[in-house]
Amino acid sequence: MLNDERILATFLELVRIHGPSGRERAVADYVKTKLSEINPGIEISEDSAGIATGGDCGNIIARVPACGRDVPPLLFAAHMDTVPLSEPVRPAVENGIVRSAGATILGADDRSGVTVLLEGVRALREMELQHGPLELVFTVSEETELAGAKNLDFDSLKSTEGYVFDNSEPFRIVCGAPSKNAVTFKVLGRGGHAAAAQKAINPIVIAARGIAAMPVGAPYEDTTCSVGVIRAGTAVNVIPDVAEVFCEVRSHSEDRLREITKKVVSSVTDAISEAEQPESGGGEPPARVDVEVRRCYSSYRVREDEPALARARAAMKTLGLEPVTHVGQGAQDANVFNLHGVRSVALGAGAYRPHSEDEYLKVEELVQGVELFVALTQIA
Ligand SMILES: [Zn+2]
Repeated sequence: MLNDERILATFLELVRIHGPSGRERAVADYVKTKLSEINPGIEISEDSAGIATGGDCGNIIARVPACGRDVPPLLFAAHMDTVPLSEPVRPAVENGIVRSAGATILGADDRSGVTVLLEGVRALREMELQHGPLELVFTVSEETELAGAKNLDFDSLKSTEGYVFDNSEPFRIVCGAPSKNAVTFKVLGRGGHAAAAQKAINPIVIAARGIAAMPVGAPYEDTTCSVGVIRAGTAVNVIPDVAEVFCEVRSHSEDRLREITKKVVSSVTDAISEAEQPESGGGEPPARVDVEVRRCYSSYRVREDEPALARARAAMKTLGLEPVTHVGQGAQDANVFNLHGVRSVALGAGAYRPHSEDEYLKVEELVQGVELFVALTQIA
């Protein structure tokens, strides 16, 4: 039997620890201390991701030695960081739901996952269950485009099968996520006084025409395109020199990702070539645009017959849960693990509405997450 109260207590301790992306040191120290209390045989190391990402802490890798079973290792992961918080979290528990009492997020994304890994290994030990070797990975800077996982020391890992606890329902298996390109435009026009607007080349107008021509929304069922930020101008009577536009494209298909990214780029480059470019008299160059396309992460899709998905299904069934597979439109560390050959799915432990002040945790599902961790280690 699992100790529900202690699982909740661990979660409450974890959400109280301040640890936004790049500042996970206190969370990492908590994790290390807990793990060595639970089982002094766990070998704990920290990689150099903190240096690569400019953070105060690296990814924590904990190796739990096998206990009575000679089987290949399994990887379990959760991220230690949260999105930025406006104030310290004061968790409040009512009717089996944990919310943040203040005007800030709760951070159940992903302290619920961290709780599952810690209480999962504790449960294995207390229940004296046999299991194979486990590799636990606590990443940093997941919320900043998976920066911690991207800098994880994969050579030190032996697992080829992984489970990332960073989702909601404990019966849901996230078996796919898209690739993402970030597209940034710097439209360089010719600024001036609004009273001499005919001599200027207004970069805001060019950017706006470009955006209007973009295939925003869902140009394909598995592809989305969006504009997130526009930066330009200082005052209404001043025409700026520069307008910046930040867009993104996500897709489960590399072909469609390429196609839509190309369309986004040409929307703005066409707007430049179609723009009226009055002679300045001073010989200033015509308007132009600097474009940067950056790959943020790559998609994954775990098939039905792969061990990670098969084991997740089997484990859920032993708990009486009816598994539901889901292909998401967001990314998790699983994107990076899959890219590096650790075939991984994402699983949930009761965290809902992440990144919002309405975020909450279902205690019952947090406990089910721990049960799921244990069950995954018990499937032959
Ligand atoms: Zn998360």
